[in-house]
Order: sequence, then C-alpha cells, then structure tokens
Amino acid sequence: MSDEQHQNLAIIGHVDHGKSTLVGRLLYETGSVPEHVIEQHKEEAEEKGKGGFEFAYVMDNLAEERERGVTIDIAHQEFSTDAYDFTIVDCPGHRDFVKNMITGASQADNAVLVVAADDGVQPQTQEHVFLARTLGIGELIVGVNKMDLVDYGESEYKQVVEEVKDLLTQVRFDSENAKFIPLSAFEGDNVASESEHTDWYDGEILLEALNNLPAPEPPTDAPLRLPIQDVYTISGIGTVPVGRVETGILNTGDNVSFQPSDVSGEVKTVEMHHEEVPKAEPGDNVGFNVRGVGKDDIRRGDVCGPADDPPSVAETFQAQIVVMQHPSVITEGYTPVFHAHTAQVACTVESIDKKIDPSSGEVAEENPDFIQNGDAAVVTVRPQKPLSIEPSSEIPELGSFAIRDMGQTIAAGKVLSVNER
Ligand code: GDP
Repeated sequence: MSDEQHQNLAIIGHVDHGKSTLVGRLLYETGSVPEHVIEQHKEEAEEKGKGGFEFAYVMDNLAEERERGVTIDIAHQEFSTDAYDFTIVDCPGHRDFVKNMITGASQADNAVLVVAADDGVQPQTQEHVFLARTLGIGELIVGVNKMDLVDYGESEYKQVVEEVKDLLTQVRFDSENAKFIPLSAFEGDNVASESEHTDWYDGEILLEALNNLPAPEPPTDAPLRLPIQDVYTISGIGTVPVGRVETGILNTGDNVSFQPSDVSGEVKTVEMHHEEVPKAEPGDNVGFNVRGVGKDDIRRGDVCGPADDPPSVAETFQAQIVVMQHPSVITEGYTPVFHAHTAQVACTVESIDKKIDPSSGEVAEENPDFIQNGDAAVVTVRPQKPLSIEPSSEIPELGSFAIRDMGQTIAAGKVLSVNER
C-alpha cells in the first residue's frame, strides 16, 4: 500500500453477474496478490492441466475470506491505482450480501455496479442501485460484464446500458455521475488494458475510471463517530473494541463515550494494521483500548464519540424512507429491523407523517393510512431498544439505515431529526 488517498469502494450487482471475479481480476491486475502465491498457483494449475488461469487463485482466496468475513468484517480486500488506495468495503457473494451491503454501502465513497451483458438488469441490480442511491454513493461505474458471452457485441452492450440508464432515472441517480464500460472480468477485457475485442468502445478502461474518481473529502471536522463492529479481549491489552472511524479523529488520551451503552473512559492505545498509532482518521479501521471499559460494558452497535459531544441516542427519530419491496403495505405499528451502521434494532413505525412525490419531492399526502412499494414518505420511528443514530444533515455517515424484514431489504432511508432520550 502506498500513501495515496483512500477510497472505499463497493462492488454491487445481481448474484452471479461476476462481482467476485471482477474483484479477483482487480487484485490480480494491480499486483495485490503476492508473486510467490501466484507462481505456486500457476504450477498447481498447470499440473492439473488448467494453465493460464492463475488469477483463479485470487478467487479461491476470496472464497476463504468470505468464510472469515462472517466474523471479521474488518478484513477487507485492498488494491491501489496511481491516485488511490482502494478498500473494497464488501464481501461479494457473501451469503448475507445485502446485509453487508447496507453497512458497506453506507461507508463506500463510490461503487462499481456489475451487470452481466447476457442477463441485463435483474432484481438485485435494482435493489443495490436503489440502496447505493439512498445511502449516498457519489459516483457509479457500471461494468457491463461477461462481454465475451455476447461476442463483444456493441448492440448487446448498448441494450444493457439503456436498461441501466432507465433504472438510474427511476431512482433519480444522476446518470452524469455514472460511467459505462464493457468488460470481461474473466478474460480481463478493459480492466487493466484496452480490449482488442471492443474496437467500437473508446471510453476509459476500468482501472482508469477508478483512478479518475473524484477524491472523497474526509469528514475530519465532524465530531468523532466510530461504530463498534466487535469487541475482543486480547491478552496483555484487555478489552479491544474494533471498528471504522466514520467521522472525526480518535486520539490516544481522548476521553470517549460509548452510546447507547453509556460508558466512558480515556483512550490508552490505538492500533491499526497491527501497529500502534497516535491517532486514527475517517476511513481507518482500528482496534483500541479504553481505560476502565470492560468487554461486557460495550457491544457491537455502540458508537464511540467524544465524552463532551457524545453520540445521540434516539427516543424517537423522524426519517425519510423509500419503500423498495414490501409484499403488502406498511402501516403504523409496523416493527421491522433497522440496520444502521453496525447496529440492528427493531423499530416501530409510530406514525406515517407524509407521503412524498418522488419526482418532485413535494408532499403528496399528509398522514396517509399506509405506504407501499415505490412510495417515499416521512415517518416517525421508535427504536425498541436504545439506538445511536444522527441526523443525516449533521453527520451523514451515521444518518442512514436500511429496513429489513422477512429476509429482504424492504426500504432504506435517511434520518431527518433525532428526539434524544
Ligand atoms: P458474483 O456472484 O457476482 O460474485 O459472481 P461470480 O464472480 O461468482 O461469477 C459468477 C459466474 O460467472 C462464475 O462462474 C464466473 O466464472 C462467471 N464469470 C464472471 N465474470 C465472467 C466473465 O467476464 N465472462 C464469463 N464468461 N464468465 C464470467
């Protein structure tokens, strides 16, 4: 890893459209896989008569990461371009993909949407684009993948581009902020070098497009907000909460508070990539140790912030949501699980305050009886257990959530205001 600027990248798209393969290809092409490991795999592949696919190693490795990813979310894939160090904030193909996507997308600066040329826009393509939009992804690079399966045909490519553009219009994602690239993750076309099969395409290849993404502005001015992912006990150190700094700075010596657990103490040590560091900034994944805070005092879903400007804990909050896929209608009293940063808390929709016209943003109806698929609405929500969450206008990183029920994401939203406990 260089000292380049950091980008968190989400890789999104329908299952089997080639997300994992593309990640493998990116790691391979950027030399993010140790040479000796590639050599070893190459030999194995040749022995088995499968030479030429040494990058398949990366795929095996990813599968392993996937298994581990269930418990160690912090183990992200990384690669670099000239301008940026990228961390992939996701575990593609993970069985809890959408769930990860929610925490992942809220942290991602930009995203690559993978759409298979031979399959086009599918339900999860829609779901992921919708989430990316709601959770505030800046730019979208759309990789029209598996071009080899459609003989690198321009008309097949254009057809998928049109489908995706329609989808972007539907969710009001400015297609000015989207780039389209014909790819084959498997064959490597237009990933690290220009494909000889797509003469009709003269746009950027994927690594160029990634390198040319706008630089994210690190939210260092905001107060510290560090959602806790896990809490470990490490011999010789003690209790070590781990998580990613979303906003602000974590310094050793700071007095910090964990909410909603409501405990506080002084930061003794901060560790990043197995090294002790004096401070951590937005985007840094850290483990740290706080004087007097034990393993049972705090938990996943807590947010760490300055003791004199602690994370907000909501008695109720008002939010704008968009309903994406609910089998029937949502009425007052509905209590699904809200996923916000690392927290998962059942919350009751206490009132449906307004229905919003999605195309204009104007109020379409006051106090509607119900809302359903495609509706945008302002709702008042009461968490059934304490939940730390912030108004999106003040700390966007801690102000968005997804609503899950019956194994799927049914809505996503942003917090408008918090009525604190
Ligand atoms: P994911 O579920 O989106 O992560 O998809 P995978 O990366 O697991 O890919 C699904 C299947 O599509 C695998 O069998 C891949 O080998 C295959 N695949 C991925 N990319 C390409 C491609 O560019 N061309 C072809 N022909 N197959 C691909």
